[in-house]
Amino acid sequence: MIIKTSVLASLLQVMPQLRQQVYFKSSLTALSHAMEDQVLAGSEQPLVIACFQRERFYRQEAHRYRRIAQQTSQVYVLAAPETDFKNSSDYYETVAFDAADALSQEWHLVVIGQHYANCLICREKSLPLQEDSLNSEIDSSRRFEGIWTFDPTVSHKAAELLLNRIQTYRPELGSKIEQAKAHYLTDLPAIDSELTQNSKRTTARYANKTQNSPNPDPFAQRLVTYLQAGQYKLIKAYRSISAQQQRERLVNLITAAIRRSLNPHEILQIAVQELGQALGSCRCLIYRCKATDTTATISHEYLETKGRDGVILCSTIGQRWPLQDNCLFQAILQHQESISVEDTQQDPRINGSNELTLARRKTEKTNSPSPTLKTLVQMFGMRSWLIVPVLYQGELLGMVELHHCGETPYRWNDEELALVEAIATQVGVALIQAEAYANLQELNQQLEALDRTRSNLVAITGHELRTPLSTIQVCLESLASEPDMSPELRQVMLSTALADAERMRKLVQDFLTLSRLESGRVEWNPEPLSLKECVDLALSQIRAYGSDDERPQIITQIPDNLPLVRADGEWLVETLAKLLDNACKFTSPQGQVRITIQNRDRSTLEVSITDTGRGIEPNRLEAVFDRFYQEEGALRRTTGGTGLGLAICRQIVKGWGGEIWADSAGKDQGSQFHFTVPICC
Ligand code: ADP
Repeated sequence: MIIKTSVLASLLQVMPQLRQQVYFKSSLTALSHAMEDQVLAGSEQPLVIACFQRERFYRQEAHRYRRIAQQTSQVYVLAAPETDFKNSSDYYETVAFDAADALSQEWHLVVIGQHYANCLICREKSLPLQEDSLNSEIDSSRRFEGIWTFDPTVSHKAAELLLNRIQTYRPELGSKIEQAKAHYLTDLPAIDSELTQNSKRTTARYANKTQNSPNPDPFAQRLVTYLQAGQYKLIKAYRSISAQQQRERLVNLITAAIRRSLNPHEILQIAVQELGQALGSCRCLIYRCKATDTTATISHEYLETKGRDGVILCSTIGQRWPLQDNCLFQAILQHQESISVEDTQQDPRINGSNELTLARRKTEKTNSPSPTLKTLVQMFGMRSWLIVPVLYQGELLGMVELHHCGETPYRWNDEELALVEAIATQVGVALIQAEAYANLQELNQQLEALDRTRSNLVAITGHELRTPLSTIQVCLESLASEPDMSPELRQVMLSTALADAERMRKLVQDFLTLSRLESGRVEWNPEPLSLKECVDLALSQIRAYGSDDERPQIITQIPDNLPLVRADGEWLVETLAKLLDNACKFTSPQGQVRITIQNRDRSTLEVSITDTGRGIEPNRLEAVFDRFYQEEGALRRTTGGTGLGLAICRQIVKGWGGEIWADSAGKDQGSQFHFTVPICC
């Protein structure tokens, strides 16, 4: 059987003048123990009715009830069974009620003796969700509401209600219950309009019966107040500990996530998500920015899915956030402190004339102004706005923002602020770590490349240096050991030795040049240059070696009115010479090499060297710029060269911020090499 009516409600119905009070569980436990002890310490045989919400609460007190039952035969214990609690009449009357019964929300204890009566009739208070989670962790802070009194009238009525109820659950106890009523409740005054008077009369009668024993009510009342106050303090302390724990948990969570990742994007995504959720914000943003940035683009956002007050939240992803024309950002920069705007509709920094002037000025200056703060607030429904800088050793790395959207402004408390600031610090450290890692990776790649270069150098040295060296050695030995050698042969020997010595010199020179360029040890001397003069100089270098017949025809197509370019002349000529040398090297004497220059855009010229030679496979167009790349492979090379020329060109062009690339329709289709140079302004 399930009874949905609350005993407390029934009592209040018949005695509406009773004033309820809120009790913590710990206070009720103390009161119940005191009531039970009073029974145990006395010599009376009172009526005792105890109602526990669950069997487990009763279990903790079962031994006391056994002792009480040795004193009196009128003991009734009620509870919702969890294991083996059931209706029985073993030591005392036990009454098992259904977990869905109203009693499972209530806590009652009624003691009616000859000389005293008291009762505790309470119902558990359901708390808001947040407090409820706190309560589940600290059981003693569960709260109950109801009556605790020594008033016999109230106690009698409570006993009567409970006995009636017990009779409904266990009708077989009817005669025992009737006996109890007859024995203990006969003095019960009628509940009528004169209740207060009656109640006073009954109390007086009890007082007479107890003669000199003082009514413990005021004393006990004070004790309860004392207990309650202690419990309040405990809850407050617990709340602050739990807030701190929550903060530490979140900081740890984000720190752990950060430790797992060295990817800035991932770090920001985790932080924004966790922080937004933990603080129950409508929106949380984390973006990277420097003090000098004009705007920041939002790419990490947490957005509450359900929105507030019926406001649908829109995403800020991809939005350009104003920084230079943003007085909040500027104030944060100046003081290196967070800013919290409780109500954006009232804040003069957002709605004031300053803001509008700035915005107008911006509109006049550019075609696409960044939105004003007021526009932002309106566009994204931000009612309250918290901005916390991400700093590392005083340097601004980014911002964390929290938005509350909806009708009511929100004030972030000190704990929340401390939490966001702690996360911002962690994010700062993580970003620096990720940056350091990226630098380390780049350095590693450079080291690996250097290592490859070294290995290549060893291979090249093995082949490139040893081969000419052997030739030189053979030639010189022959010259020394064969005094009778014909002058013609002597000449051949000498020329061969000299040519191979030159090859070796070039290889060593190219290698050293590339090393200097790659390690950034080159000091650039940019100057205004005529590209035409540079081409002429490069051509004269090419023509210094070999005869024109052995080379393809070289055609230059350079407009007269070309603007001057800005680059280091020596290196520009070197680049042109190397590209021209390659074009001639890989094109038969019957072919053609063409040098053209044209404007790429208003600030750049594009130089192209086109040949009709052996061409390059499309999938090798990038690789030809790698160190030691040679189509035949480093050790099977047939044409002269070191395999370093294009790698050197790429480093030189990079030095003035230009681009270099190759085009070719494929094998035997000729090649085009292009590079860009900035126009001198
Ligand atoms: P190398 O000293 O071998 O010329 P480079 O770095 O200048 O070294 O060139 C690397 C490789 O790129 C060459 O060995 C060749 O295979 C290819 N290459 C360079 N320029 C041309 C070109 N104009 N036509 C076809 N292949 C070329």
